[in-house]
Amino acid sequence: ERERLQRLQHTHSVTLDGQPVELLANIEQPQDAAAALKAGVVGVGLFRTEFLFMDRGGRLPGEEAQYQAYREAVEGMRGLPVTIRTVDVGADKPLDKSHRDSSLNPALGLRAIRWSLADPAMFRTQLRAILRAAAHGQVRLLFPMLAHLSEIRQTLAQVQLARAELDARGLAYGPVQLGAMIEVPAAALMVQQFLAHFDFLSIGTNDLIQYALAIDRADEAVAPLYDPLHPAVLRLVADVIAAGARAGKTVCVCGEMAGDAAMTRLLLGLGLRSFSMHPAQVLTVKQEVLRADTRKLAGWSAQVLAAEEPALLLGAPLA
Ligand code: PEP
Ligand code: MG
Repeated sequence: ERERLQRLQHTHSVTLDGQPVELLANIEQPQDAAAALKAGVVGVGLFRTEFLFMDRGGRLPGEEAQYQAYREAVEGMRGLPVTIRTVDVGADKPLDKSHRDSSLNPALGLRAIRWSLADPAMFRTQLRAILRAAAHGQVRLLFPMLAHLSEIRQTLAQVQLARAELDARGLAYGPVQLGAMIEVPAAALMVQQFLAHFDFLSIGTNDLIQYALAIDRADEAVAPLYDPLHPAVLRLVADVIAAGARAGKTVCVCGEMAGDAAMTRLLLGLGLRSFSMHPAQVLTVKQEVLRADTRKLAGWSAQVLAAEEPALLLGAPLA
């Protein structure tokens, strides 16, 4: 079975009715680029940079070390686009395992973009390193956990400032597309505002499910309630995909949902054409894409979306 799948590595990811579907990799280290290429992806849809920051005894990586790491990932992908997400520490990804967040609700606390914006100098160190790596290939810059217009404004202002700092130092940098993660329900509801400010969007279903359903994604006690097929979750995902299509901007899904082959047909039917996942999932998802006819899936997906129990129509077990 693996051998049969491996033969799909060089097959173009196109549906039966000729719709190209972009399959991308989620990576956590620059060296993961090799596995991504082997899986036959057309780029990296999510480079989780937090793993460069974690378990260093609280000492953060400097601009040069980060630049080298991002450059290694970009060069490792040999000209294919690499989406680099700014650091997402906090909640289930503490900077230091020995220093777990002591706040009562870490998932609702100072994590991701909130943590970055709380220390603008540190944030710009990462931004400069990413902008410099963009001189070596196609880079898309992605921001996690945005929810407020003020955060969007501050983030974009920091990018401008980082460019100005590189100009002042005479350092080379490249152009980047700017994107926002849609992983807080408020952001999904305000998708028009995000489309107005960003070049592309990426739906983080792991957190979107957690926050929409008020289910801690790391708490085993409530794991059975963590339901990707809850109608409210599907509604949020569908609306963001549709809004992106109307605006002519790319919407990707980079949460676990994108790598779940049982969800591929539904996401295609909702109009999704960009999926980012662990490299190990790429060929199974590609197999689903090759078998899909989006003309037939659109009506069915609308029915799933309207269903009281979407899982019954999907024919997939819940947990
Ligand atoms: C997500 O929330 O779906 C996501 C891709 O980000 P992370 O899993 O790193 O929080
Ligand atoms: Mg997330």
